Amino acid sequence: MFHESYLENPVSLHYRIHPSSPRTIHTGCDHRVHYTQGGGNMAFNPVQRAMEMESLVMKGERRKYYRFRYSLYYGGIVTADTVGCKFLCAYCWNYFRNLRPKRAGDFLSPEEVAERLLEISKKRKCDLFRISGAEPILGRRSAEHVRKVIELVNNTFILETNGLMFGFDPSLVDLFVNLNVLIRVSVKGWDEESFEKITGASGEYFRYQLKALEHLHGKVHFWVAVVYDLFREKGLKELEKRLPIPCRIEKEYLEMYP
Ligand code: SF4
Repeated sequence: MFHESYLENPVSLHYRIHPSSPRTIHTGCDHRVHYTQGGGNMAFNPVQRAMEMESLVMKGERRKYYRFRYSLYYGGIVTADTVGCKFLCAYCWNYFRNLRPKRAGDFLSPEEVAERLLEISKKRKCDLFRISGAEPILGRRSAEHVRKVIELVNNTFILETNGLMFGFDPSLVDLFVNLNVLIRVSVKGWDEESFEKITGASGEYFRYQLKALEHLHGKVHFWVAVVYDLFREKGLKELEKRLPIPCRIEKEYLEMYP
């Protein structure tokens, strides 16, 4: 089953900032991430965007992927890169593919995805897996696709998600019960305002990220990750006050895009 060590001590991930990202966030350190959305009337409904996105990146049970690779994160992990997200985070390293997912990738069935992952796994002697580049869980069809990939690779899978749809629809959590999966929930703010600035989505939807933690609790192994450059100690403390249950929090750091 899963390696407890990933829960206790996952290697911190680094977000890469694309230099031509059109949005700006001041991080309080050397980084400056660009954004023009994420305030006032321009904020969007991320649940609606998730549904629209799912219809663009899913065809039946096939999902769009544009790359398969071995990555050094987590001490080595076989990675499938997909497209399509309900947020438009200012620091997203895959910002433009997620903005226009129609142009990127090919539709692949869970069997095709698992086959490519297992090929790399064999070559690199690595039995840890993940999906990256976008949000894996956009609704039921994409969640069922991910569940099938996890079953087929039949080894430890780290599901990196922003968790919004687990908060919106608790029945999606049940798809991942009793699987060899660890869920890493990237929480995008410490309150409604910071959430809106970071994601471009309306602040009122922040509550679904918190709800997700409640829904996962006791069913699936998970932890919370935050971008510390944006949160700093103040944001972290504010988030701790809002967490519905005690959670381990991993700090991750921004990294300039090469
Ligand atoms: S949630 Fe992740 S994939 Fe989606 S826009 Fe933000 S950083 Fe990119």
